[in-house]
Amino acid sequence: MSTYNCAFTIAFEVSGCKEPDGSDLTPAQLATAIQQRVLRIMRHDPAELLEAVGGAFDSFEEHMTHNQICSFVANAKCCYNCGEVFDSLNHPHTDEDCIVGYSSWERADQEMIASQLYKRLKDPKT
Ligand SMILES: [Zn+2]
Repeated sequence: MSTYNCAFTIAFEVSGCKEPDGSDLTPAQLATAIQQRVLRIMRHDPAELLEAVGGAFDSFEEHMTHNQICSFVANAKCCYNCGEVFDSLNHPHTDEDCIVGYSSWERADQEMIASQLYKRLKDPKT
């Protein structure tokens, strides 16, 4: 399965700015305002965070690094219930990840590993 790096933004506000464009704010003030916005949402209704960030405005397909490939081969497991092949050390397949809702793993065989690596490593443009 391909993975993607997705970019999001979140809106927040700071009151009491001395400049109309907020250029007087320090990085620490901005960091505090962002933290407060996220904490308010998480305390009130975590699902609202999905609404607050909206859809990703940009994304790109991630390619596996040498270390990720080595870890995948060494730790590849396959879910009995849905057939997902994954790196059990770095990206364990939980019940929430499983389309069947209940994950159960076994060691992936060489054919499963090779097939999954082929899918993950092939250039989507070719
Ligand atoms: Zn599964």
